[in-house]
Order: sequence, then structure tokens, then C-alpha cells
Amino acid sequence: MKPAPFIRHAPKTLDEALKILGEVATQDGRVLAGGQSLVPIMAFRLAKPAHLVDINGVEGLDKIASNGKVLSIGACVRHAAFHKPVVDNPLGKLLAYVARHIAHYPIRVRGTFCGSLAHADPASEWCLTAATLDATMVAKSTRGERSIAARDFFAGIMATALAEDELLAEVKLPLLAPDAKFGFNEFNRRAGDFALAAVLVSYRMQGGFMTDVHVGVGGAEASPRRIAEAEVALNGQAPGDKVFRAAAEAAAAAVEPLEDHQTSGDYRRDLVRAVVRRALEHSA
Ligand SMILES: Cc1cc2nc3c(=O)[nH]c(=O)nc-3n(C[C@H](O)[C@H](O)[C@H](O)COP(=O)(O)OP(=O)(O)OC[C@H]3O[C@@H](n4cnc5c(N)ncnc54)[C@H](O)[C@@H]3O)c2cc1C
Repeated sequence: MKPAPFIRHAPKTLDEALKILGEVATQDGRVLAGGQSLVPIMAFRLAKPAHLVDINGVEGLDKIASNGKVLSIGACVRHAAFHKPVVDNPLGKLLAYVARHIAHYPIRVRGTFCGSLAHADPASEWCLTAATLDATMVAKSTRGERSIAARDFFAGIMATALAEDELLAEVKLPLLAPDAKFGFNEFNRRAGDFALAAVLVSYRMQGGFMTDVHVGVGGAEASPRRIAEAEVALNGQAPGDKVFRAAAEAAAAAVEPLEDHQTSGDYRRDLVRAVVRRALEHSA
């Protein structure tokens, strides 16, 4: 099938993009970033936006910058930008490791970090990263700018706190401590598919014990989130098989798994148990 007719707008500046988005938002105007999610659903006519605000030509949106505390990722930064560490900090290595689990190479060359967050697929690796590391989203519109914490941003399957006329201009990820460790694991039936469950963990090691533990689970529930029960099981403990299994059990018990015709809730819960343990083993 071909998409329904639409008008493509090609602003050159952010102000121009926000102005057009403000004007067309009420007529199902949408932002077009990498197009790797929007274009397929338009081709299937699951979405029929009347206007596309194509931000690919907007100056300055393709920047990645660090101020020593936070990594800022602009709206047109592609997944492939993270194939190599973008910052000399454990966060750079973490993003490079996670990036290669997203789809396939041609999709990573076009798809954007911010587009993934705005699309909010429950299984998106970048949504999981943002939720686990307590990212801050910077939303802009002609009405002004606001910052949204990750825990307030994700609002269910493909739903976010963004208003129709808001552009996700930038995402801010806190840099990790120099001694931080991370682990990631996901399960999917075929390489490149969306994960049925995915886990990202990060923590610091102090005196042989794990501190400042973050455990995020994606793909299993409507939105990715940190799992406090698993973090409590790990904080202050020495890493090891028994502790990792206890955290995995706590995470599996805490999630309310999504179900579909191929995947039962029990199966997904079991996957959460497995991927939490594997991510922790990876971290160690
Ligand atoms: C075969 C295939 C496999 C894939 N596998 C994976 C996978 O394993 N993991 C994964 O995470 N993703 C996967 N994807 C999706 C891919 O990562 C997309 O790139 C991503 O979800 C959306 O980014 P985009 O820049 O392409 O956004 P677009 O497709 O351009 O837009 C997606 C949605 O977000 C909105 N939007 C985009 N940018 C902004 C913004 N800055 N502000 C406000 N709204 C915005 C659009 O209006 C639209 O509604 C896959 C895609 C395909 C085709």
C-alpha cells in the first residue's frame, strides 16, 4: 500500500519547525525524523497524518555534547552515531553496546535516538536506556520549553507526555561515575527483532559492594521503568550468583507483563527473570 496524501514541510530552523508544528498539530501534523517507524505505519495506513514536519534539514539538531555532567542528544542524532563511544565516560561504552541491539544497520543509519523516545515502543532499547538512567527530555513548542523526567515521560504503549505541538528537541543523559559498571541483555526470537524483554543495569562498586544500583526493564510492560524491588536486592551487596538470582526473582515478581497471542504473561515474566540475571552477569 502507499501512504495517504500528506503535505511535507521542510523547515530550516528550529523556530520555523515549532511554528509549523504549532499550526498543523491539530490537523494530525506529525514530526518526521528518521521515518523508520512513522513511514512503515503510514505505508500500512495505520497512520494518515495530513502534514509532516520534516526536521532532517533543521540546523543544529544533530549535535551530541557533554558538559562534564550530562550528555545532550539532539533530535536528529541517529542510532548509528553511538556505534563508537561518543564520550570518554562509561556512558559512551554503554550506549555503544546497547546501540548495536537496535534493529539492523540500515535502520540505525536513519532512525534517531529522540524519535525512538517520541515513538515510545515498549521494547525500544533507547526508551529503556532513558528510563534506567533517569534521562531528562527537553520538549519545545511555540509556547516555550519544559523538561520532563523519564519517569513522567512514558505514558504507556506508544504514548508519552509530549503534547501534539511539542518537539522533543533534546534528551539529557547523566554521565556515569568513572568507576561505574553496566550490563545489558535482551531476548528476541530473531536478531534485530524488537525484544520480548530487555534489561539494563548500572551500579558503582565501593569497597567491594554495589551502590547506586539502577535496574531497568523494557519490553515486558507497557513502558520501560526502573524496578525498585530488584535494586533493593542488589544495593549494598557484593556481586555474585546468589545475589543476582535474588534480584532477578524480585524483578520477575514485580513486573505486570504484557500478553499477546504469541507470548503469555508467564512466559514474559520468565524472560524477565532470565534477562535480569544475564545482564547482571554481563556487568560483572
Ligand atoms: C524492521 C525494523 C526493526 C526495528 N527494530 C527496532 C528495535 O529492535 N529496537 C528499536 O528501538 N527500534 C526498532 N525499530 C524502530 C527504529 O528504531 C526507529 O528508528 C525509531 O523507533 C523511531 O525513530 P525515527 O527517527 O525513525 O522516528 P520516526 O519514524 O520519524 O517517528 C516516529 C514517531 O515519533 C515522532 N517523532 C519523531 N521524532 C520526534 C521528535 N523529535 N519530537 C516529537 N516527535 C517525534 C513522529 O512524529 C512519529 O510519530 C525498527 C524499525 C524497523 C523498520
